[in-house]
Amino acid sequence: MITGWADEKRSASPKQGGAAAVADDWTGRRVVVVGLARSGRAAVELLLSEGARVTATDAKPAEELAIPVDEWTSAGVRLELGGHPAGVLHGAETVVLSPGVPSDAPVVADALSRGLPVIGELELAYRLSSATWLAVTGTNGKTTTTALLGELMSRSGRRTAVAGNIGAAASGEITRVPEDGYVVAEVSSFQLDTIDTFEPRAALLLNITEDHMDRYDSFRAYAESKRRIFENQGPRDYAVLNIDDPLVAEISRLLEATVVPVSTKTEVEGGVFVRDGHMISRVRDSERTVIPVEKLGLPGPHNLANASAAAAAAIAMGVDVEAVADVLAGFRSLQHRMEPVAESGGVLYVNDSKATNVESVICALSTYDRPIVWIAGGRDKDADFGALAGLVSERVKVAVLIGEAAPKIERALRESTSFERSGSLESAVEKAAAAAAPGDVVLLSPACASFDMFRDYEDRGDRFREAVRARVSARAGAGGSGPAGEGV
Ligand code: ADP
Repeated sequence: MITGWADEKRSASPKQGGAAAVADDWTGRRVVVVGLARSGRAAVELLLSEGARVTATDAKPAEELAIPVDEWTSAGVRLELGGHPAGVLHGAETVVLSPGVPSDAPVVADALSRGLPVIGELELAYRLSSATWLAVTGTNGKTTTTALLGELMSRSGRRTAVAGNIGAAASGEITRVPEDGYVVAEVSSFQLDTIDTFEPRAALLLNITEDHMDRYDSFRAYAESKRRIFENQGPRDYAVLNIDDPLVAEISRLLEATVVPVSTKTEVEGGVFVRDGHMISRVRDSERTVIPVEKLGLPGPHNLANASAAAAAAIAMGVDVEAVADVLAGFRSLQHRMEPVAESGGVLYVNDSKATNVESVICALSTYDRPIVWIAGGRDKDADFGALAGLVSERVKVAVLIGEAAPKIERALRESTSFERSGSLESAVEKAAAAAAPGDVVLLSPACASFDMFRDYEDRGDRFREAVRARVSARAGAGGSGPAGEGV
């Protein structure tokens, strides 16, 4: 049971100033922006355009940041780089945090002890935008669902921007969206930690499973941040929830918004579900068949859940069921998310580098009913790899492990399959390809973060794609079966 959350919420959140403490007219306001990666940079630019007096600070020195130092300095920005010096908050009226800055960072504690309102970049963008906002959160599937919902909403004919973790920062995008347009935002739990008045017209919660346990003190604190997406919603707003997830189902009973339930397992009133191989909508009361499941452009049972949630939100917002079906049929996997890279010699190569936790690997392994040669490993996020045992023994014929977590993964799954180790991703691709027979899938789905060997998950996925393509064209050049990168 979820009990006592409301009381804990106040102390868990850096928001202490309350909505009234932050003015919506930013002209002349002294604002400190902490963290100058993409979102922080966009916040600085937005605040400048609103006439605020901005101090911009980052733990990194200027050389490691991609910021226009001269331009900002001549626009009057005070820069405090290479750390947050003692006086950085002096004279500040509001502090804006970039999502990369943990809400328990010392500079945040300092701001709170001075009674300063602390808000996130998402909250800032929301306050300065008059468009209609839709927001997506969950442990997994946010980017895919946000991109899909963006496509669906643009079918309404209104200007739609997709923002947040995906693509551009919200603070930059809002300037391009008119009052009658939509902002579809992917929001992480870190961003939800620092909202205050944020009230999306439709908020989607996809799932809550253990992730980022290295950053949150407890699973409950993590789940609580996810729940905050609904915090300011009222009855005219929509809360779209995947009730197949037990914790999400529990949250659905606590909300003021109009709940639009989504399930791929049971029929639901007022929401979207699956019956006899068809996605069915009962949103806005009348029952309509949306699309046969086999026609969905996205693979796998998890994507059926993502697509159902996106469809439910779009239909609730008034998009035609026919237009929804059209978009769902044409929408393909994004890069690094079960992205088919090549098919060669009857072997399908799939880049799922974004699968940095156990839950997303469960989805990937469940998607294919052909034998899998699995490439996994990287930096452990304190994961319970043992949870993969059943699926691995059922579907994985060989696991090729890389990175720091290799010994731990092998220990946890020793009984489930056979293992090989590789010192690089390139040699892992070679070993996996050698182990694969026609009809198999070679799947990079690491269950770990990438930072031990790569810049980020995109770097890891790009390197996988390159290694696969190099191997495939070498085979083709050597007269191996089939042309390089037979279409996928
Ligand atoms: P996020 O933005 O939440 O990280 P992505 O759409 O980027 O989500 O997908 C991240 C990983 O999670 C990918 O490996 C993807 O295949 C997997 N995934 C997508 N949707 C789900 C889901 N509903 N449940 C579990 N895993 C999912």
